[in-house]
Amino acid sequence: MANSKYEYVRNFEREEILLPNTWIVVRIDGRGFHKLSNFYAFAKPNDPRALHLMNHAATYVVQSIPDIILGYGVSDEYSFVFHRSTTLFERRKDKIVTTVVSAFTAAYVLGGDEYFVKEGEGGGKVLSMEMLPTFDGRAVCYPTWENLRDYLRWRQVDCHINNLYNTTFWTLVQQGGMTQTEAEEHLKGTVSGDKNEILWSRFGINYNNEPEMYKKGSVVFREYALEESISRNEGQETGKAEESAEIDGEEGSAVPAVVSKTQMEKQRKARRKAKVVTRHVDVIKDDFWIQRPWLQS
Ligand code: ATP
Ligand code: ATP
Ligand code: MG
Ligand code: MG
Ligand code: MG
Ligand code: MG
Repeated sequence: MANSKYEYVRNFEREEILLPNTWIVVRIDGRGFHKLSNFYAFAKPNDPRALHLMNHAATYVVQSIPDIILGYGVSDEYSFVFHRSTTLFERRKDKIVTTVVSAFTAAYVLGGDEYFVKEGEGGGKVLSMEMLPTFDGRAVCYPTWENLRDYLRWRQVDCHINNLYNTTFWTLVQQGGMTQTEAEEHLKGTVSGDKNEILWSRFGINYNNEPEMYKKGSVVFREYALEESISRNEGQETGKAEESAEIDGEEGSAVPAVVSKTQMEKQRKARRKAKVVTRHVDVIKDDFWIQRPWLQS
């Protein structure tokens, strides 16, 4: 590109480089989805079509960015964990966050009609300019594996607390005939045991039998050899985005001294080929991680 006298304006640009050797988490969240979910008439509290669409978009993101080891999603949010050794975009924060957000949004919008209209019983509303889904995003660096584990625990515990509340709230409204204000009042000061009791004694609902996707959220990751040891009820969706193009860093990004470039390239190739799956499993305890050592290494 030819130089011009205007080039000096580039000096005004500022780049934030994410701390090296830390686990980068990019969390995206739907903007105004409370309103959007009413507009598109999501079933309350959990519209499975909307969750499947979120998982579809997350699968595309994980498939197209090999440096992401895992995604964790609940409601209108998804967290994507980059391996601490990633050099994608030289760890430039703006590039990483905006690429994840726009890749996710593009897949969400393109998948909208399939998941929303076709998966429903003919009642789904087609995505329209009147209410386009948009997402915001942020990146946070976690210096230790334990910090990262605690981050994911935080999100999954949040999922549990919110889902128990929402399930009880909407059961009181939909089956108990309460107004939303009455239900809110009724649940003030209750602990989780009380909510389980309300569900069971008044509506015959055993919270434990609620779908795993609602109780635990969704984990999207590359599965290698462990298919056998994973029980059927853990969920079964498989990523569809297998042929998607890979999002690549540019300009020969710096490679850390410990891993050779050929080794890295091998890893990337293996990751590109591995099957991306969605499971609704516990990531709080150690089992999930012990069974899948490649996620950390
Ligand atoms: P903000 O822009 O600040 O994020 P928001 O309206 O998106 O505002 P959130 O706290 O992100 O607020 O909450 C998302 C809301 O979207 C939930 O409260 C819920 O009402 C709705 N929602 C998201 N996913 C689903 C779903 N699968 N089924 C039903 N409702 C959903
Ligand atoms: P990066 O991800 O680094 O931005 P890039 O391939 O997008 O890589 P750019 O420097 O942004 O590189 O250049 C965009 C390229 O897209 C152009 O070089 C051109 O080849 C192509 N392009 C963009 N818009 C058009 C268009 N309207 N018609 C034809 N080609 C286009
Ligand atoms: Mg938000
Ligand atoms: Mg939101
Ligand atoms: Mg949210
Ligand atoms: Mg470009």
